[in-house]
Amino acid sequence: MLLVLEEPELKVLQVSSNINTYLGLQPQDLLGQPLSYLIDPQQAIAIAQQLTGENTRNPLKLSISTDRGKRYFDAIAYRTADEAIVELEPIDSPHETSFFSFHAAIAGIMSQIQSTSSLPEFLQLVAEEVRKLTGFDRVMVYQFDPTGAGCVVAETKRADLSPYLGLHYPATDIPQPARELYARCWLRFIPNISAPSVDLVTLNQQPVDLSLSILRSVDACCVEYHRNMGVAALLVIALMQEQQLWGLIACHHYTPKYLTSEVRIACKFLGQLASLELANKIRQQELSDRVKLKSLQSELIESISQASNIVEALIQPAPRLLSLTNATGAAVCLGNEISLVGATPSLEEVRSLIDWADTQVSDNLFATDFLPQIYPPSVEFKATASGLLLLRISKIRCYYILWFRPEVIQTVTWAGDPNSSFQLENGSIRLSPRHSFERWQETVKLKSLPWQSYELDSANDLKTAIVGVVLRKAEELAQINQELERSNRELAAFAYAASHDLKEPLRGIYNYSTILLEDYAALLDLDGVDCLQTIKSLSQRMETLIDALLRLSLLGKAQLNLQATNLNELLQQAIAVLFASRPDAQMSIRIPRCLPTIECDPVLVSEVFSNLMSNALKYNDKADPWVEIGDWERSGEPTIFYVRDNGIGIQAHHHETIFKLFKRLHSQEKYGGGTGAGLAIVKKIVELHGGKIWVESVPGAGATFYFSLQ
Ligand code: ADP
Repeated sequence: MLLVLEEPELKVLQVSSNINTYLGLQPQDLLGQPLSYLIDPQQAIAIAQQLTGENTRNPLKLSISTDRGKRYFDAIAYRTADEAIVELEPIDSPHETSFFSFHAAIAGIMSQIQSTSSLPEFLQLVAEEVRKLTGFDRVMVYQFDPTGAGCVVAETKRADLSPYLGLHYPATDIPQPARELYARCWLRFIPNISAPSVDLVTLNQQPVDLSLSILRSVDACCVEYHRNMGVAALLVIALMQEQQLWGLIACHHYTPKYLTSEVRIACKFLGQLASLELANKIRQQELSDRVKLKSLQSELIESISQASNIVEALIQPAPRLLSLTNATGAAVCLGNEISLVGATPSLEEVRSLIDWADTQVSDNLFATDFLPQIYPPSVEFKATASGLLLLRISKIRCYYILWFRPEVIQTVTWAGDPNSSFQLENGSIRLSPRHSFERWQETVKLKSLPWQSYELDSANDLKTAIVGVVLRKAEELAQINQELERSNRELAAFAYAASHDLKEPLRGIYNYSTILLEDYAALLDLDGVDCLQTIKSLSQRMETLIDALLRLSLLGKAQLNLQATNLNELLQQAIAVLFASRPDAQMSIRIPRCLPTIECDPVLVSEVFSNLMSNALKYNDKADPWVEIGDWERSGEPTIFYVRDNGIGIQAHHHETIFKLFKRLHSQEKYGGGTGAGLAIVKKIVELHGGKIWVESVPGAGATFYFSLQ
């Protein structure tokens, strides 16, 4: 029975029409009367005290004399904004449950709850304790996700019932007003979902706020929803975390079931206790997840810092990189090289994706769980990458790591069709219960599971580690370069000193063998003269070699004398010198177009052209030898020059070695001989200008030397 009272005299303004059943009175008998008309003044005072908060004992045990004798009730009194409400539930005896029996029911639970080691274990224990307290057929714990959809995360039930554990429920299954009420009242109890509703007979025709009412009848939608599931009695206890509804403990019974107010109070207390502990357990769980992640991270970072190849260290073993962000696929992009791990789009798709995603990055990261909606080409690979997390390590070097998640379609088991919670009625959407509770898969189209903030942190930490390792390696490299430079300088100084000092005794050998030949040849036989001749020519040869070495070592110390140089003039002079030293040479020189004026050291560049032209002339067995000199201008890049001939050509495996000092491919006698230092000197000069040199050639069909000067 429910009474709406006007304070302070507690006049009855409204009363439920069922008072006749319990008290043998008509509503009209009570309307307008003070409460003391129904109960003795002492009890009325106790109710008034309960309303003012002086007495916190709720419920009060009341006895009411009726024409059928004394009847006992639990009375719960409270205030709304406008009136006072008293709710009466019939009980068998007026004896109060002692504090000790309540304590006995609850005491053990607290220590058990605290000793559970994980969130799932804790929630399971809570469900089991609620079932022990209430005797309901099924007790479940729902957890809400950020969208309001629920998932059954713990369950205990009668053995013959089919399980609901793991099922998801759409947010619309528990409408927002119902959620708000759970958050305010902690507990909702419906002993018989099919009980007919009872009218309020009113004196003042005012609507009453029944938000806090225990006896409030049930919304038709809720009745039908649960009837479809075969549920007859329902108890729902709120689980709160930081003033937000985190989830619910939902209890189902398949026949009507009444719980005394003491049991309900124990359940509410348990809900509050569980809510308090919930925050701890969630923190613990997050902490243990973070610890796991951190140890994974440090393992990965250690491998990266020890490895000579960062990519290998990242992708071996593959699951480690994926676990770092709970992804199913990943791509590591270092410059042009992309390595794929797990389930990913194709290389080409990843390449285009990086180009696009790089424009979306903020703070080195870009994460989305609905890639196909913002990057339409990804519809093609939604099964592997509906979710993308991109980490930019360096834009300039094009260093990225990408993680992928599949479309969530396969991963959720819905308890019924979430879309069918809505029905169109007269053109407008109305909430209506669902008719089917068969399992089926909801197609959450083109979306992946969302990226959690700690997963993004984890990606960011990896970036810091990689940058650290790369920087350290760069420092090591710089140090090695410094040392190399120093030893190169020492080597050049040594080569200079050695070749310089060698020249003097060599000159002596040459001079004395010449004197011997001139003044003492008559004293020797022919063999002796021959030996002396050989000594003389060997010392000459050795001098040319030493000169070449000296030239090269001097180049090592050379300062470039850069100036604007007209290459046409420079080349004409070089050609003139070449033909002056080889007056018998038969070779045509082709210069298809004017060469540019460039900034370079003219003396050294002239040596480059002379050397290359002289080689073109030497290594040619054709009847009509020619050499062509030209350039190839490229916008924004240094010009490439070439010296092409129609000579004997060079085999491919010698294309690099010919630039080494004293490397010759032919014997001394063939093709006019040489020291094998010419190309080494040419290469040195080109490199001094910051350029490169290389050759292309087909044996027998000539050779083309290309070089650039920065
Ligand atoms: P060398 O003083 O022997 O000419 P280089 O350093 O100038 O020394 O050249 C190294 C070797 O490369 C030569 O011995 C020759 O075999 C080969 N070579 C150089 N230029 C040409 C060319 N234009 N055509 C074919 N072979 C060449």
